[in-house]
Amino acid sequence: MNEKRHLPAVDRVLGQLSELIEIHGRQLVTGCIRAELAAAREGLKHGLPLPEESTLLAAIQRRADAAGQANLRAVFNLTGTVLHTNLGRAQLAEEAIAAMVDAARAPCALEYDLASGGRGDRDDLVSGLLAELIAGGSPDIAATIVNNNAAAVLLTLNALAQGKEAVVSRGELVEIGGAFRIPDVMRRAQVKLHEIGTTNRTHAKDFQEAIGPKTALLMKIHTSNYAVTGFTAAVDEKIIAEIAHAANLPFVIDLGSGTLCDFAAHGLPAEPTPQQALAAGADIVTFSGDKLLGGPQAGLIVGRKDLIAKIKKNPLKRALRVGKTTLAALEATLRLYRDPDRLAERLPTLRLLTRPCAEIEATGQRLLTAVQSALEPLATVGIEACSSQIGSGALPVERLPSTALVVRPTAKKPGKTLLTVEASFRRLPTPVIGYIRDDAYHLDLRCLETQDEAHFLAQLAQLTF
Ligand SMILES: *Cc1c(COP(=O)(O)O)cnc(C)c1O
Repeated sequence: MNEKRHLPAVDRVLGQLSELIEIHGRQLVTGCIRAELAAAREGLKHGLPLPEESTLLAAIQRRADAAGQANLRAVFNLTGTVLHTNLGRAQLAEEAIAAMVDAARAPCALEYDLASGGRGDRDDLVSGLLAELIAGGSPDIAATIVNNNAAAVLLTLNALAQGKEAVVSRGELVEIGGAFRIPDVMRRAQVKLHEIGTTNRTHAKDFQEAIGPKTALLMKIHTSNYAVTGFTAAVDEKIIAEIAHAANLPFVIDLGSGTLCDFAAHGLPAEPTPQQALAAGADIVTFSGDKLLGGPQAGLIVGRKDLIAKIKKNPLKRALRVGKTTLAALEATLRLYRDPDRLAERLPTLRLLTRPCAEIEATGQRLLTAVQSALEPLATVGIEACSSQIGSGALPVERLPSTALVVRPTAKKPGKTLLTVEASFRRLPTPVIGYIRDDAYHLDLRCLETQDEAHFLAQLAQLTF
């Protein structure tokens, strides 16, 4: 007997799945039915029994639900790295989210001057705000915005130094996340890298001696993801600026991360700001929108108006510019910096970085029993001190004291259980991302804010091992 005949026809199955069609659409559901029927047919060929109709329908539903799920999904970032590049870096402030939604929903005056009715410039949406926040509203300071800080560096170099040389200390030839290496970016910008000094020490005379007819600019790169310690010497920014200006050259600083607020005032390790860079005499400063600034992915180029005008005229600018939703979020984020008193409350990045230890520990106390019972008898769970890091290359050696729920398998050889536990948290509807260290699975609770605890707890019942 040919068992194939017993598999239902596609149309008959479709007729039974009206609810699923309502959710996912007829086309997707039809595709899932075909795929499951094909799998069943294949099974029959290999001697498997004909699947029950209910089993078949459930498999189709699972397949459709999986296909219907967004690829970009929200997660719980319990990795202990607050600005996690692989998890999207900064969480935006509610004000920024609302601005993005408005910009996305209706036409907006992106490049339209509402006062004159003429054409506008999208950079003007934030240029004045940046001059206000970074340079006390100086009319000589302007800004232009591109896709990310890598783009900001590429564009700045190409616009100001194409076919010429940029002088950089050897100690600052950084690589960020593999794909961004200063020497490679220089090459792509068609700028010749003129390295000076040694890995650990660079002096003022190194800068002075490097300047020649081919020099286009002097550059300082913030060594964001590593620290040079021990017998070191770097040249003060003020001195590099003086040397540059004496030779009539611009001084460019790539800050990487760029907070506009005084971190030390918030009890955090001090981080250089664009304000300090410009005050020290930098002509251009570049930094990321989604690192310590706490905004959307963007690259901010701020500095001398004439140089910004030159950068904006470069054809690469058109290729690297940002869209309206990014500008909306950036403007809203920058506006929050006008009110420093409420910044730590409204800007999630700063709020998470400054979260009091006692509050994080209290979160642990509230969650402990539920996580413990979800993992019984596989593992025991305890509350332990841990340390979070800022991430995205900001302050790489600094750690912030935090609290973790620490899962220790009861088995003698914990390796396999750890991987099972880690994977099961990752499979939850809102995946939970922790980390394994010292034979234990850690959930750093710094980024689990009180308002999200209920959601975290509610899905524990769905853990499967
Ligand atoms: C992070 C960083 C970059 C790259 O910034 P993106 O916004 O990730 O493109 C460039 N330079 C420095 C010093 C950095 O820290």
